[in-house]
Amino acid sequence: MQLTSGLRKATAFRADQTAIVAGERSFTHGELLDRVSRLASAFRAFGVGTGDRVAILAANGHPYVECYFAVLWAGGVVVPVNSRFALAEMIEQVNDAEPSILVCDRSFADVAVQIGEACSCLTAIVAAAAAAGLPGVYDYESAVANAEPCDDAGRGGEDLACLFYTGGTTGRSKGVMLSHRNLWVNAVVTAMSFGFDESTVALHAGPLFHLGAGARVYTTSIMGGRHVVIPRFAPTEVLEAISRHKVTVATFVPTMLGMILQLPDLDSYDLSSLKLITYGASPMPEAVLQECLRRFPSIKFGQSYGMTELSPVATILAPDDHLPSAPRRRLRSAGRPIVSAEVKVVDAEDRELKRGEVGEIVVRGPMVMMGYWRKPELTAEALRGGWMHTGDSGSFDADGYLYISDRIKDMIISGGENVYSIEVENAVLTHPEVMQCAVIGIPHPKWGEAVHAVVVRRPGSSLSAEELIAFCRSAIADYKSPRSVEFRDDPLPLSSVNKVNKAALRQPYWKDKPQPPS
Ligand code: ATP
Ligand code: MG
Repeated sequence: MQLTSGLRKATAFRADQTAIVAGERSFTHGELLDRVSRLASAFRAFGVGTGDRVAILAANGHPYVECYFAVLWAGGVVVPVNSRFALAEMIEQVNDAEPSILVCDRSFADVAVQIGEACSCLTAIVAAAAAAGLPGVYDYESAVANAEPCDDAGRGGEDLACLFYTGGTTGRSKGVMLSHRNLWVNAVVTAMSFGFDESTVALHAGPLFHLGAGARVYTTSIMGGRHVVIPRFAPTEVLEAISRHKVTVATFVPTMLGMILQLPDLDSYDLSSLKLITYGASPMPEAVLQECLRRFPSIKFGQSYGMTELSPVATILAPDDHLPSAPRRRLRSAGRPIVSAEVKVVDAEDRELKRGEVGEIVVRGPMVMMGYWRKPELTAEALRGGWMHTGDSGSFDADGYLYISDRIKDMIISGGENVYSIEVENAVLTHPEVMQCAVIGIPHPKWGEAVHAVVVRRPGSSLSAEELIAFCRSAIADYKSPRSVEFRDDPLPLSSVNKVNKAALRQPYWKDKPQPPS
C-alpha cells in the first residue's frame, strides 16, 4: 500500500495522457512521474532521509501536488503548512513538525525566509517560480531540472506518510499522523464509492494544506485520473476551470456551494462535463442542498463525513440517496459507514447506544490515524478502547443512516435541554430572506445558555428578529428556537478552511464569564 503506486501505474499504461493542469502549465503522467522522481532526488541531496519531514507552504499549484508525491518518493513525510495562518502561527506549526526543508511558492518566499530564521530545524528552503536572490533559497525548477531521477524509497503500509493539521475549528490545530495505509484505504474506498477512475478529471478547489482537499489528490492519483488545480477558491474561477478543463468531479465545503449559488450569472457557465459534486467537512444546510439539487438537476451529489483523524472519510451519503426517489429525510443525514469503517454511537461511559439515541460518534478501522504528533496523552484519550472519539454527536436511524446532531462543543444546553445548533440553523435557513446563519449559545442568567442566532439577510430584506423567531417557532420547539437574533451585514467569519468560526462569534459574549466555551 503505497501512495505513489498510482503514479507508476498511470505512467506504465497512459504515459502520454494529461495528469495535471494548473494555470497555464500541464504535465502528462510520464512527465509528472519524471518530475516527482527528480524532485525526490533533489530532496535527498538536501539531506531528507527516511521519515524526515518536508513542509510545504504554497497556494494550490502543480508544485503542491508534485511535493505530495516527491516527498514520499524520497522516503520523507509530507507536512502541509496552513497558508492562511499568521506568521507566528506558521512558525509554531513548523517548530511543532520539525521539518528539515520547506518548499514554498513565489508568493510565500519572503514568509518562508522569516520562518527559516525562526525555525532552526530547517536546513534549506526551496522556492517554486524563481524566487532567486533571496539568501539560502534554492530554486525549485532548477532542483527538478538538475537532479537525476531516482527510485522510490519504497515506504508504504504502516510507515508515516503525512502530518496533516486539523481545521482548528475548536482550538489549536493538531498534527495528525497518517500512514500510507490510512490514506491508501481512504483513497480506494472513496474512489469506489464515488466512481473515480482513469477518466476522472478532479478539481481541487479547497486548500491543499487541509486533508479535505488533499485526500482527493491521492484518490485521483490512485485511480490514474487527472488533477485540475486552481490557486484559490473563488466562485467564478471555479466555474471557469470546470468549463475550460472539462472537470468531472469537484469537491466543496458547504460554504463554497452557498457562494456559488449566489452568483448572478451561474446559468451562463458550461458545466456539462461535471458529473459529480462531493461536499462535506462541515454541516450541509438542508436549504442549500435542496437549492443545489434544484439548480443542478443533471449533476450527482455525494456527501462525506469524517475528520482529519480518519484520513478523513467515515461515512458517505451516496449519490443515489440524493435522488428524488430516495426518502427526503436522508438529505439531513451524513450517510452510511464506508465499507472499511465501523461506526457506533456511545454514551459518556462508551456504552453503545440504540438506534435513534444521540451520543458521541466513534469510529474504528484501517483509516484511523496513527495518533496525534507528539501528543501521546491526547492520542490515548481520543483513541481510548481502540475507537476514534470524534467529538461529534449523532444517531443512527433504522436503515443505518447516521445523522450528525452537532459538535459536542457546539451543543447548547439551555434550561437543562440539549439544543443542537445544526437543527436550529436548518430551521432558520429555510426562511427565504436568510442567506447565512450560525447558532451559538450565549450566557443566560436563568437558562445557563440561551439560543442565539447570528444571521445575514438577503440583500434588501427587512426581516425583523421577532418575525424570524416566530418563523422558527412554527418549525421547531420553542426551547430550540432562537431567543435572540443578531443581524450582520458582512458574511459570517470563516476559519482558514472555510468553516463558520463559531468560537469567534461566541467570544464577545463569553469573555467575562467564568466558563467560556472552547
Ligand atoms: P479542530 O479539530 O482543529 O477543531 P476540525 O474538527 O474542524 O478542527 P477537521 O478534521 O477538518 O478539523 O474537521 C472534522 C470535523 O468537521 C468533524 O469532527 C465534524 O464536526 C465536521 N464535519 C466533517 N464532515 C462533516 C459533515 N459531512 N457534516 C457535518 N459535519 C462534518
Ligand atoms: Mg476536530
